[in-house]
Amino acid sequence: MNWQDKDKAYIWHPFTPLLGVSEPLCVTSASGVHLQTEDGRKIIDANSSWWVNLHGHAHPYIAEKVAEQVNTLEHVIFAGFTHKPAINLAENLLSILPENQSKIFYSDNGSTAVEVAIKMAFQFWYNLGQDKKRVIAIDGAYHGDTFGSMSVGERSDFTKPFTNHLFDVEFIDFPTSANESSVFERFKTLVDSNEIASFIFEPIIQGASGMRIYNAELLDRMIQYAQDHNVICIADEVMTGFGRTGKLFASDYLEHKPDIICLSKGLTGGTMALGVTSCTNAIVDAFMSKDLYKTFLHGHSFTANPIACASANASFELLTKQECQDNIQRITNQHERFKEKHKLTPKLKDIRSLGTILAIEFETENDSSYFSEMRNRLYPFFLERDILLRPLGNLIYVIPPYIISNDELAKVYDAIEEFFSTL
Ligand SMILES: *Cc1c(COP(=O)(O)O)cnc(C)c1O
Repeated sequence: MNWQDKDKAYIWHPFTPLLGVSEPLCVTSASGVHLQTEDGRKIIDANSSWWVNLHGHAHPYIAEKVAEQVNTLEHVIFAGFTHKPAINLAENLLSILPENQSKIFYSDNGSTAVEVAIKMAFQFWYNLGQDKKRVIAIDGAYHGDTFGSMSVGERSDFTKPFTNHLFDVEFIDFPTSANESSVFERFKTLVDSNEIASFIFEPIIQGASGMRIYNAELLDRMIQYAQDHNVICIADEVMTGFGRTGKLFASDYLEHKPDIICLSKGLTGGTMALGVTSCTNAIVDAFMSKDLYKTFLHGHSFTANPIACASANASFELLTKQECQDNIQRITNQHERFKEKHKLTPKLKDIRSLGTILAIEFETENDSSYFSEMRNRLYPFFLERDILLRPLGNLIYVIPPYIISNDELAKVYDAIEEFFSTL
């Protein structure tokens, strides 16, 4: 069998129908912003491979640090044992996270970082002997694909087969300029019930539901109100963390800081799987006990994998260099310029940007969901031009590695403009 047949026979790909889709591209290597395919193509990864890559593929510094680590200590159980890569990473992260964050809990992806956050918040109240069972989330939220993280996310076509098995969550409307005061009023009513354990949100921009941006000032007021009334605020920064929104964390746009923060995706620069849930001293205090019943009894086999931590430490060093911060600013400026240029382009429902994220929503005649037929035009159009822009329904977004050059960015913008001209 050739690799195509073997792939088809043996592998089940994520988010992919088993029939009726074109065969996947086989990537043999990658460097910088480019993916090299088996048949000799060089594809610009304008989506940072599901938003994880920060400094380009196969970054030599990250590769060197990972190689060093794999030859020194590849893995060790993280209960009863510890290691320097995890200690250094915790110290590094706490030096850039909002000041109220004081402890780091490791897991291995974004969904588990969210699971840990939700469980921490529930057990916080349990340990204090208080009966708080409900969670507030925002319409359109995406927090991952495991049951807890699905529960606090939007009920959608993605979750339909599982709806009966998800726990109930209070959803508030997605805030827009038209409904801000009613959203805040409903939020206050829910908080006032005294039954709310936590409020979970993607700060100021929802990713998977279509790079939807909302008012930071309103979120700030919600966090303040929640914290004044003993509701734990969980910021899911899995997508927004590490410079994506123009600041190191989306929470940096807020005056009132979340109690718990979830991180993954860009955490290791996109090299290794790793999740982090950070929290404040106030959260930790409820677990400060010798009592096993008050212990946070959660962990994964690969918790704090040393190679993943080494990769994250290397990525941290690159991220905090001035050069990287300049790149983030440069991409932000380019996106804004492109947005200004196309504010009035016909057939665009909306064009918006935040930091290194640029999103373009197209008008469609039928539905604008993920299953929109627009998707079937968009994805191949860009791929044929050697650009990876994986659409969300009728929406495309550019979320590139920070090392993308202006010329490479221009290639992406040019292809998008070419698509505009076909509308
Ligand atoms: C991707 C994502 C997750 C889930 O992360 P995985 O590593 O894919 O499990 C959770 N929250 C947000 C905001 C995300 O964008």
